[in-house]
Amino acid sequence: MTFRADNPTGLDLIPAAIAALQPCFWENPRREPAAKVLPGLDMTRADMEEAQARWRRFRPLFVRLFPQTADTEGHIDSPLIDVSTELDLSRENVADSRVLIKADHDLPVTGCIKARGGIYEVLTVAERIALEKGLVSSPEDMVALAAPEAQNELGNYKITVGSTGNLGYSVGVIARALGFQAEVHMSRDAKEWKKKRLRDMGVKVVEHRGNYSTAVASARASSASDPSSYFIDDEDSRTLFVGYSTAAFDVVRQLTDAGIKAGASGPVNVYLPCGVGGAPGGIAFGLKTLLGDAVRCYFVEPVKAPCMLVELAGGLAAPSLEELGMSGETIADGLAVASASPLVAGLVGRLIDGCFTCTDDAMVEWVKRIWAHPGLKLEPSAAAGFCALEQLLAEKPDPRAIHIVWTTGGAQLPDDEFLALIRGDHSR
Ligand SMILES: *Cc1c(COP(=O)(O)O)cnc(C)c1O
Repeated sequence: MTFRADNPTGLDLIPAAIAALQPCFWENPRREPAAKVLPGLDMTRADMEEAQARWRRFRPLFVRLFPQTADTEGHIDSPLIDVSTELDLSRENVADSRVLIKADHDLPVTGCIKARGGIYEVLTVAERIALEKGLVSSPEDMVALAAPEAQNELGNYKITVGSTGNLGYSVGVIARALGFQAEVHMSRDAKEWKKKRLRDMGVKVVEHRGNYSTAVASARASSASDPSSYFIDDEDSRTLFVGYSTAAFDVVRQLTDAGIKAGASGPVNVYLPCGVGGAPGGIAFGLKTLLGDAVRCYFVEPVKAPCMLVELAGGLAAPSLEELGMSGETIADGLAVASASPLVAGLVGRLIDGCFTCTDDAMVEWVKRIWAHPGLKLEPSAAAGFCALEQLLAEKPDPRAIHIVWTTGGAQLPDDEFLALIRGDHSR
């Protein structure tokens, strides 16, 4: 990294590898002990617990709306899978590393991590209207929202969101299931099949030729001109952030069940694919809140869209990706974001341990490897965590560390899309 002692410009603060589109590992120089940072944040464990309680109140309704959640009594979570023996890391010369996958690529209902944030924020809207309009007798009675009269009433309201695909899908699914109207503004990165799937559900899909920020801006403008509309602001939503953070309760329980005590023998390293930052930021906040510095949180971004790394490294002087000569286009459509959420950067800027970047080719390579063993269906964004694991093992091996790779989407990819991806004849 090159620093100019006197009056550094934003560009000087960005690692040279970033500007050269090379994979890189950036250790966060502003990171401080969680116990020191957390008390100063405008977000607390009580916020996480309130969100957890809200999820719980909606569980009986989920069982009614989404029968696939009956087995877990309406709890939306994924398994934590130990892949240490199946994952072939002999190439990396670290064959005995303990590696777990947090399988959010296969979350019930949406098949991607956006279920944790997008669904949650729609629930907060439904709950408020339900109580205001007397659609339920009490907050414990959300199952009453399955009634046709309740759904008709919610049909007077609209949920609007901008997305590269997965957030729009997750919001669309839950909004329509509750009876809301839904309008999703899609960036040029959004895949055709993701748009079609939404239209088939009765969602209004608005296509944009611009990038993700353009889609969010037009969704925001469209919503502002419609009093019946609620806008989910992926670039600035505390609600999304808190929804994501509750994943930490699930992981802590699963680690305990697996007999792993974070910090007892070594750190738990968690690799989180990062787009605008809400999902990885919320989860990192949750994990640091529950486990402190026994857990190390790393964000992973495409070399062509490292918006969070640039934001955190550059601070107030951060250049835009455009100034760095980057288009922000990548095969990892879930991560194709040109500017990070300032809210998230502010909340986790001193908490997270570092950021990695990885190439499109490396992500696709890992999609293939994970399909071969242990046989999981990932989209490129969801494979980013393995690229980071690979880099960390090469640069800073720590035999005591346990690794959790967060896989974030892919289980619901149509078979022909997935086959094209692993055969290498995918189109952008
Ligand atoms: C959205 C998304 C992410 C990242 O979440 P952000 O909140 O945008 O940072 C990661 N992986 C997949 C598959 C996603 O759809």
